[in-house]
Amino acid sequence: MESFCESIKKKGGNSPLFSCAKCGACAVVCPVFRVSGKESHTARGKLHLIETLGLAESSKVFVDIFSACLLCGACSAVCSRKIDITKELVAARNTFSSLAGPHAYEKYITRKLLDYPGGLTGFRVLGRTGEKLLGDRLPGNSGLRKRLALFRGEFPVEAFEEQPRQVAPDAKRLTWFPGCASRYLFPEILASCRSLLADVSVSLDIPEGLSCCGLADWAAGDREGAENNSLKNIEALEATEGAILVSCASCFAHLKKYPDLFAENTDLRIRAERVAARVVELSDFLEGLGEQKQYKDDEKSRQLRVFYHDPCHMRHEPATTDKAREQLQRVPGIQIVELADGPRCCGQGGLFNVAHPEISANIIDQLVQDVLALGPDVVTSTCSGCLMQWKQGLAAAGSKVQVLHLAQLLK
Ligand code: SF4
Ligand code: SF4
Repeated sequence: MESFCESIKKKGGNSPLFSCAKCGACAVVCPVFRVSGKESHTARGKLHLIETLGLAESSKVFVDIFSACLLCGACSAVCSRKIDITKELVAARNTFSSLAGPHAYEKYITRKLLDYPGGLTGFRVLGRTGEKLLGDRLPGNSGLRKRLALFRGEFPVEAFEEQPRQVAPDAKRLTWFPGCASRYLFPEILASCRSLLADVSVSLDIPEGLSCCGLADWAAGDREGAENNSLKNIEALEATEGAILVSCASCFAHLKKYPDLFAENTDLRIRAERVAARVVELSDFLEGLGEQKQYKDDEKSRQLRVFYHDPCHMRHEPATTDKAREQLQRVPGIQIVELADGPRCCGQGGLFNVAHPEISANIIDQLVQDVLALGPDVVTSTCSGCLMQWKQGLAAAGSKVQVLHLAQLLK
């Protein structure tokens, strides 16, 4: 396969990479630039480096610069030249070893866990036990305390695993892609999704053979790993019929990208298109139910101030975040609180928080401070990665504000 450098040389002046107007619109919206202030962290800076030096000059500094991007898509959404910046940056990353750069060992471990997601279950058991034993005893600024905060929960997980609401025997069966984090780390999210839809007589089926959606591989520039995971999912989902409910926003956005991954293979692209056409994100699915789905005025939701965090993958690409807010507005007693300057990235970005923990922590710390000033009781979202980042950010700030998946709040 021709390298990225060869392909941009061949395209020469026709490559979108060379059409940057240097207008700076991408810098204004870039969450990494917002905390680092480095021009090389903007899309404009990275495109300029490729244009002037080419990736043939790649060095540790280059790898570091190109990995310092959340692939949030904010730059692509405002680009005056309509450059698909995230696509170009992923192609650039493809020329480096996906495990190069800082924190390579941590990236390796995380990627291995995602290749064999069943192993995450053991990680959860350890995390829950550690949180119970050590959580509040560790110093407030301890890195371990922040990591263990992932497993702090209002609910005993085992009870949730046993007691999702029962569905009627004649319930409609719906194929479900829950995502690795809910499936293996936070089964309380899984149980809440089941309960949420049991009310409308829908039973959720997870097909055999599902894998990680492949977003982490794709973001790291590991095309082979991304294609392998995607192919496993395409095969598993082809064995099913009808709509495919996806309860993690980032998995949803990535499943929609599958046809692009196989753009050069007509057969696989057509199969990927068929699967991508069937996926429906949770809040979109709930909206489709209309009045059939009712929310009760119960003790738990009454007078709750809720901050809804827009996952970047929903905000910039399919741009469908209003549907989650519409569902929340239908719950009696919930009051949505919003940031005056609009939604912001949380700094999680797949493995970005593993590769660049300091930048990632700065992004979430600033966001947490601004959101806490709104006095929320709950932070909610539909991306498991964002929820993990929020749990750690709020724990670092010493806050007890709850972090719940949208299904946990609506069920
Ligand atoms: S994708 Fe997001 S983090 Fe990356 S350069 Fe664009 S705005 Fe910045
Ligand atoms: S918004 Fe687009 S055209 Fe403007 S500087 Fe950024 S990449 Fe270049």
